[in-house]
Amino acid sequence: MDLGRTLRKWGGVRIGPKAEVVGCERERETSRRLVHIPIRTPTSPSRGSVPMPRPSSHSLATACISLLVILLAARLIPHPPQREPDNVNMVTALKNVIVIGGSYVGCAAAKELANVLPATHRVLLVEPHSHFHHLFAFPRFAIVPSHEHKAFIPYTSLFSASPNPSLHSVVRASVLEVHPSRVVLDRPFSGSTSLEYDYLAIATGTRLPSPGSMQDEDKPLSVSYFQEYQKKVKTARRIVILGGGAVGCQMACDILEVYPDKEVTLVQSREKVMSRFHEGLHEIVKKRFDELGVKLVTGSRAVIPPNGFPLEPTTVTLASGQSITADLVITATGQTPNTAFLSTLSPTSPSGILTPSGFVRVFPTLQLADGAYPHIFALGDVADSGAHKAARPGGAQAVVMAKNVVALLEGKQAEEKIVVSPPAIHMSLGLTKNTVFRNPDAAQGETEPWFKLKDDGTENMNIEGVWERRGVKVNGPQEYHL
Ligand SMILES: Cc1cc2nc3c(=O)[nH]c(=O)nc-3n(C[C@H](O)[C@H](O)[C@H](O)COP(=O)(O)OP(=O)(O)OC[C@H]3O[C@@H](n4cnc5c(N)ncnc54)[C@H](O)[C@@H]3O)c2cc1C
Repeated sequence: MDLGRTLRKWGGVRIGPKAEVVGCERERETSRRLVHIPIRTPTSPSRGSVPMPRPSSHSLATACISLLVILLAARLIPHPPQREPDNVNMVTALKNVIVIGGSYVGCAAAKELANVLPATHRVLLVEPHSHFHHLFAFPRFAIVPSHEHKAFIPYTSLFSASPNPSLHSVVRASVLEVHPSRVVLDRPFSGSTSLEYDYLAIATGTRLPSPGSMQDEDKPLSVSYFQEYQKKVKTARRIVILGGGAVGCQMACDILEVYPDKEVTLVQSREKVMSRFHEGLHEIVKKRFDELGVKLVTGSRAVIPPNGFPLEPTTVTLASGQSITADLVITATGQTPNTAFLSTLSPTSPSGILTPSGFVRVFPTLQLADGAYPHIFALGDVADSGAHKAARPGGAQAVVMAKNVVALLEGKQAEEKIVVSPPAIHMSLGLTKNTVFRNPDAAQGETEPWFKLKDDGTENMNIEGVWERRGVKVNGPQEYHL
């Protein structure tokens, strides 16, 4: 791939036969409606009904007498048992559809389900975090001060655009165990830690070392963590970053753009950074590293102490024997799937429920790849679906999963399948420079990636827009602290 000419000048470029705006940073709203049975109250007027004329006092008296006659007759003539109004039955016999995990994909799944489920079913989103964590901004907010509180967005508006918002809830808890028809929580919800379900969607993703993801569940603790981290970055002169994925590469660029006098070394175990992508992305990142002065060590693995590196001066030893002295080590290595709670679900297929690396095996319908559990789905980063691990494809998976849940509810087969698209990413390369990059689509015969180099980023990564898209109206800067 010849990127030389295009990279000399930072600007938009198109490679390959098909260009498409990837727009990964914007999570897609998935609000298409399939089936919706609204709660009907006996008194609510039907839409488009003709207004009745106002009754005169004479006709009012006649109506009262008629009503009395009807009531008397009603006491004398036996009637068949009255059916309860629909909404009473629904409230008393609500069935649960549980989503585990309230990040990009779990939230998309919960919203989509709330849009399409009949009013006989409620959505319970189980998540231990007090707020939605906007992970895309974590690398930036670990370095640049004063925006960190905006990375944590209240869940208050999650269901506000749904047909029956009050039916559904966010349950603040962690799932400890999954059984065929119930989950066990680490704290009670409505007086019990056991929560029954008809359908289950697992969207528990993966965890990254901090600051890629937070150790704490509460917003104030996570905000303090970022503030402390920013101070460590500011005072460290020599910084070593372990891992050449999105978190490591973005942090390396940001640190040197904000603090050009620091010494930043990024150690990557493979030969290229961003190794899940076409090598063209490595070339783009490397070019930017050279501009900023990031030292890149590839094909070398660091020895990580059992309890990780302390946030203080230390020496990093590489497997090659080389050592690097650092005032701060940022660990931005691999993602671990959150699937421990599935050990209580017995597999009936010989390959088991999880892959050797701990991801959930699924069919293209996103149902567990174990015929015994057609009512359990997994989606997003935690699922071994063949899809690229990103929020955007996870949003499309939410639509597939919800359609299949509705099909099963209606006694049909789950036939909707995911479409796997080539990996794509929107990554920052400093405060304003960024790239949108998509791997070639082999199914379309493409051999070259498509990418666009941009210089339109902002220091706070347009975080206000993220709050808006998550439906949270902010009336003043103080409300970002809520
Ligand atoms: C720096 C960075 C930038 C990125 N940029 C983009 C981008 O531009 N576009 C894009 O599409 N993707 C991007 N990604 C990838 C994207 O963040 C992930 O693909 C996405 O977070 C996956 O979402 P998820 O909901 O599947 O899982 P996760 O985001 O990993 O969330 C899992 C959730 O499950 C919860 N959970 C875990 N265990 C339990 C349990 N036992 N009980 C209850 N809840 C539990 C966790 O608390 C968490 O909230 C980026 C990632 C990073 C790190």
